[in-house]
Amino acid sequence: MSLVLADILAAARAIRGVAVRTPLVPSPHLSALAGQDFLLKLETTQPIGAFKLRGAANAILNLPAGVAGVTCCSTGNHGRGVAHAARARGLKAVVCMSSLVPQAKVDGIRALGAEVRITGRSQDEAQAESRRIAAEEGFVEISPFDDPHVIAGQGTIGLELMQDRPDLDMVLVPLSGGGLAAGIALAVKTIKPSARVIGVSMDRGAAMDASIRAGRPVEVEEVASLADSLGGGIGLDNRLSFPLCRDLLDDVVLVTETEIYRALQTLFYEDRMVAEGACVVGIAALQAGKLSRPRGPVATIVTGRNVDMTIFHRIMGGQDVTLGDLTIEGRAYAA
Ligand SMILES: *Cc1c(COP(=O)(O)O)cnc(C)c1O
Repeated sequence: MSLVLADILAAARAIRGVAVRTPLVPSPHLSALAGQDFLLKLETTQPIGAFKLRGAANAILNLPAGVAGVTCCSTGNHGRGVAHAARARGLKAVVCMSSLVPQAKVDGIRALGAEVRITGRSQDEAQAESRRIAAEEGFVEISPFDDPHVIAGQGTIGLELMQDRPDLDMVLVPLSGGGLAAGIALAVKTIKPSARVIGVSMDRGAAMDASIRAGRPVEVEEVASLADSLGGGIGLDNRLSFPLCRDLLDDVVLVTETEIYRALQTLFYEDRMVAEGACVVGIAALQAGKLSRPRGPVATIVTGRNVDMTIFHRIMGGQDVTLGDLTIEGRAYAA
């Protein structure tokens, strides 16, 4: 099936009342740096603290009556979105996760009424368990990114961006499985083909970037990152988000853990915002000089605020952070 703008318009109608229309606010500090208006799309203000509610709600609202329940695998925010949207529709939800997922995210999903099952050490293993539950227990599996309703739901962000700022020149989208980037690119490019949509990932374990380079979905080793929401594969049998990202994204830019660390400090100290590492990859790319010069306003998606606060406090204090085999050297914030 191919997705079109009409699917995104239908998603916008479907999710009204479950997901909110989020504000798009200027960052004076980042605008000065970019030499253009630099705007932040605050998905942190969604009821679950992340944009994933849009796609999950659209998928669940489009299910036929009489399904037993829904299941998914998730590094956290998709699980929250599915749990919240399932509860809103009175459906049972089972969320499968790998053991790499931070405890705060596991607790957050349980609090939304879903059952959590921890399996394996990678997103791919968690996904296999979710498939099994779907096949053997009669649940409907909701992919975090490779589902037409999920992509259309995330695409409503692109629609709102173009409604609020038709003059946008560049959109910086945090990129993992590519549901967000595919949906936003479809909306933005259909409405304004000259606008550039750029995916941004961390430089270790960026599965979509490796897949676009290889010309087909490939696996990458999953490693710890400050941008933990961007970890995981895109699925070797990816049908939708891979071809859409390959065909619609103008570029994919990669940022280092140190660049993510600094960008988290910038967003907090300059804009007074608490966000996950995954949200600031676009800001990190700007600060690191990794973007081509914008010809008009730039927007990035502040995708979620479900951050481990212990790590967040260390970063704001300029302390070292150790994640798995990686230590990021601390540095106090200086503009
Ligand atoms: C899921 C997620 C992303 C990436 O979305 P994809 O559709 O997987 O590319 C970015 N940021 C946050 C906070 C997320 O939860």
